[in-house]
Amino acid sequence: MVDKSKALLEVQNIKVSYGAVQALKGVTLGVKEGEIVTLLGANGAGKSTLLKAIMQMVPLQEGDVLYLKESLTRTKTNQIVKKGIALVPEGRGILASMTVLENLELGAFHRSDWRSELDHIFELFPILKERIKQSAGTLSGGEQQMLAIGRALLSKPRLLLLDEPSLGLAPKIIQNIFQLIQRIRNEGISILLIEQNAHMALKVADRCYCLETGQVVISGSADELAHSEELKKAYLGG
Ligand code: ATP
Repeated sequence: MVDKSKALLEVQNIKVSYGAVQALKGVTLGVKEGEIVTLLGANGAGKSTLLKAIMQMVPLQEGDVLYLKESLTRTKTNQIVKKGIALVPEGRGILASMTVLENLELGAFHRSDWRSELDHIFELFPILKERIKQSAGTLSGGEQQMLAIGRALLSKPRLLLLDEPSLGLAPKIIQNIFQLIQRIRNEGISILLIEQNAHMALKVADRCYCLETGQVVISGSADELAHSEELKKAYLGG
């Protein structure tokens, strides 16, 4: 049973810099069990850096990231995956010369029982079954995005971090991706979703945070924010 009051992820006042560029200036946010939380913001606001900071792929200058009340700041990224957080990165991170199956296998690097999960992945993404022996570089953009999500799901996450899954995809494919996001949540996986497509993101999300130059400037329930004048001006085209 999903307990929607249970804090899964707590990001507490984190600061991250790349040299002189302060990408995150003290960000606090959270994801509860069973939630879809969306993170909106212009290019360069710090959204991808936030996901990297959760995975400890960039060092934190200050602050903490708690997963199920336990600090992750001394945990290596591969251990974080084992604990139950998976990242679908910006640009998808598909290995083009490897086959679809080999890419999927990478997501399950720590599991010996992953093959039993494949049928479920193929049920979610039937096209991947058809393409199983093809090199991943021959897939369309939408298919590659499905492969990236399927690969992340094979690590059996409890929390999925998605970095702009709709980027560069046709409207019909974007709709498919958003339906899949809801289905994945209905299977008990919580989701932190970065999106440029604020309309669609607010439709599927429970809550939303807006980042601007490394800081959270607006936060609230997705229903509330879909009607907020401030957010409409900034992210919904008036
Ligand atoms: P986008 O949607 O364009 O990816 P974003 O909101 O995800 O934007 P980030 O990619 O997190 O933003 O970048 C935040 C800031 O940090 C930007 O000013 C960016 O130029 C800078 N930055 C990101 N990665 C690096 C890096 N590896 N080295 C130096 N600066 C970086």
